[in-house]
Amino acid sequence: MSSRRNDVDRTLTTSGNDELTPLRRRIRAVASRVDRDLPWSLTRDPWAIYVSEVMLQQTSVARVLEPWRRFCDLFPTPAACAEAPLGDVLRAWAGLGYPRRARNLQRAAQRMVSDFDGQVPSDVEQLRSLPGVGPYTAHAVAAFAFGRRVGVVDTNVGRILARCVTNSRLSAPRAQELSTQLVGRADPARMNQALLDLGAQFCRATPRCDSCPLRSECRWRREGGPDPAMESAGVSRPQARFEGSNRQARGRLLAQLQLGTCRKAVALNILAPDDLERASALLADLENEGLVSVERGRVRLGS
Ligand code: SF4
Repeated sequence: MSSRRNDVDRTLTTSGNDELTPLRRRIRAVASRVDRDLPWSLTRDPWAIYVSEVMLQQTSVARVLEPWRRFCDLFPTPAACAEAPLGDVLRAWAGLGYPRRARNLQRAAQRMVSDFDGQVPSDVEQLRSLPGVGPYTAHAVAAFAFGRRVGVVDTNVGRILARCVTNSRLSAPRAQELSTQLVGRADPARMNQALLDLGAQFCRATPRCDSCPLRSECRWRREGGPDPAMESAGVSRPQARFEGSNRQARGRLLAQLQLGTCRKAVALNILAPDDLERASALLADLENEGLVSVERGRVRLGS
C-alpha cells in the first residue's frame, strides 16, 4: 500500500479533530462567500428537493431553474405527479432532455404513494430503491431534505476529493466515505452545499486554482503530479457529441409530440429521415420505455 493511501486511511480512522479539520474549517469559513443562492437550497420540502436533484442529474443549473418551478407548481406533491397522465409530465419536462428521467420520476412518485404513505423516503437505501435514483441523488436528497450526515459526491466534488483532499485517484466507496467524513457532524447540508458550490465554481475539469478559496489546503496544488481526478470515482467523462446523436433524434420527436399526435411515417422521418432501420429502432425504444405510444398508425406521448 502506498504512503499516500496510508495517509488517507489515517484520515478516515481518526475521529473528532482529524486531519480533515483544517480543510473542514476552511470550507465552513468560505461557505457564504461561494453560495450560489439556488432556489431549491431555500426549501425543506423533500419533494421539491427530490425533483430538483432528478433534474440536475444530467442538466446544468441554469437550464433547471425555470422547469423546476413549473414542475413543482403543476405537481406539488408525489401524489399529484403519480396521478397525472405521463404526457402531462413529459410536457412539464420540456427543455430538460433525457426524458427517461421524467418517466422514472413519475414511477418513483407512484412508489412513494404505494410504499411510503405519499412521502419521499429519508433513508439512503430506500431512496436507492426508487426508479432512476443512483448514489448521487439518494445521498443528495438524504442530506438536503432530511439533514442526514452523508456526503454528496457529484463530478466536481469528486474532483475536490481526488485533488484537494488526497491527491490520489479514488474508488467509489472511498470517495463516498471520505466525503461523509469531510462533511462532519455540524450542519451536513450546509457543508455539502458549500462543497458543491466550490466544486462548480473552481474545481472544474480545468481548475481555477488561482482564485480557489481552498488553494492553501489543496494537496494536488502543493505536491503536484498528474491530475488525480482523471478516472477517479464520481468524476464523469465528457458527454458524447449531441449533434447527430440518438439523444438529439429522440428529443426532436418528443418536442413535436408535445404539440400533438403525428402519423407514424412522420415520426420515423423526424427520427432519422435517411435511415428507416435506425428510425424504427429508435421508435421501438421510445415505445418500450413508455415515452410514446403507437396506435392505428399514429404516435402520441406516452399515457
Ligand atoms: S486549488 Fe485547484 S485543484 Fe485544489 S481544490 Fe481548488 S480548484 Fe481544485
